[in-house]
Amino acid sequence: MSGPVSGPVIAVHGGAGGLGEELQSRAAEYRAALTNALMSGAAALRAGGGALDAVRVAVMTMEDFPLMNAGHGAALCQDGSVELSASAMRGSDRAAGAVALIRRTRNPVAAAAALIEEPEVLLAGERADAFAAAYGLEQRDPSEFVTERQRARLAGRSSGDGGTVGAVCLDGDGVLAAATSTGGLQGQRPGRVGDSPLIGAGTWADRHVAVSCTGKGEAFVRAGAARLLGALVAGGVALQDAARAVLDAVAECDGDGGLIAVDARGQVVLPFSAGAMPRGVWRGGEDIVVEVP
Ligand code: ASP
Repeated sequence: MSGPVSGPVIAVHGGAGGLGEELQSRAAEYRAALTNALMSGAAALRAGGGALDAVRVAVMTMEDFPLMNAGHGAALCQDGSVELSASAMRGSDRAAGAVALIRRTRNPVAAAAALIEEPEVLLAGERADAFAAAYGLEQRDPSEFVTERQRARLAGRSSGDGGTVGAVCLDGDGVLAAATSTGGLQGQRPGRVGDSPLIGAGTWADRHVAVSCTGKGEAFVRAGAARLLGALVAGGVALQDAARAVLDAVAECDGDGGLIAVDARGQVVLPFSAGAMPRGVWRGGEDIVVEVP
């Protein structure tokens, strides 16, 4: 692709779904969380980090925010337990790391990013937590991820879904990266793995585009959603058209959701087919724009 690189730019999402009343009544908190995520990603770039650092730090900020479905405050499985999954990918060399079904690591995306330097792409279960612990990442008792808000949802005392988090970045050197983190679907069967930790389904980055998806994971897996976007953009399809085609492919697999993507020219798209998707963009030299419906 020719022309000057228009990075740096970071985009984040707080999950596609029907967050409904809570999203409206607590919109200020969601806005602050997205803004903090973008500010921390931008600070990572200013401190000399690359696109991968920026998406890792932005997603960690949202994992620590209890109203989003990742890290502390994640959705609960049928049995009331938390199982966390995350992935990260750097576009310049397609290096990727992912963890699934972890229960102790405070920031799953940090474990995924740490794995980027290792030959393996995906670790699952308690051995993945052990890898993260050996890498020096903070460990917590599994009960500490469980919030009263999610218990009430599981018990049917309140409604709402969504809240998976993700970030994409084009840094000033033209490197793209993406990361996604989730607790999965509320009330899911223990052991279920959705699209978020699967490279090519929920997350993808190459030299052309970086994308983080959210929504009904099975449909994104069956559509090969994130990789499909990469292939379409590499084939010359305009980013917006490619993103629409991906959500159409997800719909054909009986799913809805959304995605955020940035291409090598710094163009950003944030489409969604589900009820709502809190999202935001930071562009170097410009103000942060956050949209919480
Ligand atoms: N895609 C996630 C999953 O299926 C959930 C979400 O994005 O809300 O696990």
